[in-house]
Amino acid sequence: MERTNINETINKIGEKIKVAGWVHNRRDHGKIIFIDLRDRSGVLQVVFADAEIAKELRNEWVIAIEGTINARPEKMVNKNIPTGTVEMQAKKLEIINKAETPPFAVDTNGYEINEELRLKYRYLDVRRERVKNNLILRHNVIQFIRNFLSDKEFLEIETPILTKSTPEGARDYVVPSRLWHKTFYALPQSPQQYKQLLMVGGIEKYFQIARCFRDENARGDRQPEFTQLDVEMSFPTQNEILDLMEKMTIEMVAKICPEKHISQIPFPRLTHKEAMEKYNSDKPDLRKDKNNKNELAFGFVIDFPAFEWKETEKRWDATHHPFTKAQNPDNLPEKEFIKHLNKNQATILAHQYDFVCNGYEIGGGSIREHNPKILQAIFELMGNKTEDVIEKFGHMLEAFSYGVPPHGGIAIGIDRLIMILNNEPSIREVIAFPKAGDGRDLMMNSPSKIDKEQLKELGIKFAEKKTKK
Ligand code: ASP
Repeated sequence: MERTNINETINKIGEKIKVAGWVHNRRDHGKIIFIDLRDRSGVLQVVFADAEIAKELRNEWVIAIEGTINARPEKMVNKNIPTGTVEMQAKKLEIINKAETPPFAVDTNGYEINEELRLKYRYLDVRRERVKNNLILRHNVIQFIRNFLSDKEFLEIETPILTKSTPEGARDYVVPSRLWHKTFYALPQSPQQYKQLLMVGGIEKYFQIARCFRDENARGDRQPEFTQLDVEMSFPTQNEILDLMEKMTIEMVAKICPEKHISQIPFPRLTHKEAMEKYNSDKPDLRKDKNNKNELAFGFVIDFPAFEWKETEKRWDATHHPFTKAQNPDNLPEKEFIKHLNKNQATILAHQYDFVCNGYEIGGGSIREHNPKILQAIFELMGNKTEDVIEKFGHMLEAFSYGVPPHGGIAIGIDRLIMILNNEPSIREVIAFPKAGDGRDLMMNSPSKIDKEQLKELGIKFAEKKTKK
């Protein structure tokens, strides 16, 4: 007999069917035993009139049961579960797999359990309804985004994971090359350069649900790898990009989280200066009522300063990344604009914007500098020597010499967005297999040592760790 999903049992009254899943819990009433059987779609009460058959069963065993679905008497209806109007009268039990007693309960919300233990046994933690629902929401949001942007003729294009160092402001993860001795790939901090090169390639509208890697010290709620919705367009105005994100977000919330309400539509657009003066923050919390868990206060912060002074390195750095276009309100010609850039680093603004929600930065982007001479000047202004610019970014400057359209884009942090939508305290709750706060994967036990043979092939020898005398 084929198995029926538990959520369909409400339509099967009087039918003999088979269900399969995990023993969620078991109540022994002596002669008769009740179990709640769980599959992905829900929980079903199963009655074993012959207690003998079910006596052995324990939580989390995987079983299949054949039996008849009956309507529950009025008094026995459980309004708390979708299948509360029915129950199964078990006829036949198949024990598929027994289970050890799990290291923690999976029928609670799990916040009370030590997080490291939950992450070590994440495959059990995922059985928890709350974690499952986070993954379902994540799927729905990504699915919505894919459809929304595809309808608008954006192409979803994958870009490499083995790539070259990108100037996104964090440390790169690097991968040693076996074939090209003493050289390394870098994992992308974002697909920034590839998406820009796709614009040079005439793609015009690109998006990707992209994995990004940043080797940062454990800082608050960060993950070494995270997921962005990455978008780039050719010939856009800044408002076109912001309007697109705004429309996508409004429609997404209405369709996927109808219980949520958005504080203000259109989303407020504050300049960086206004945000700092009024809220003393570049990611202001614009909610009207911070206790209301269903309020979403989206907004855009625009006109960021183009450069910031890095005291430790004694140099100017791009506030966002060096590909961002600096504003040129007086339309200075190229040479004069380069002079102006080199004189007024502290005050020049950028065509740069952040997307904020409830006090979090959930995205950011910019219109890009597509003039290769100005771009080169910006790299140099940031302290790169001309030779280094060629070595690091020569491919971009060269690409821009072959007819580059004006372009711009944005990236939205999917993990953070899902976290906010489901009122979760951390992005770890909405990632299937997150790293712990210290960067380790406690389930797979990584990072881990590799074989001597692997090291030899890569030509890697470790330096002795210097011990302090
Ligand atoms: N690549 C940028 C980031 O990850 C976003 C963008 O400029 O589109 O922050």
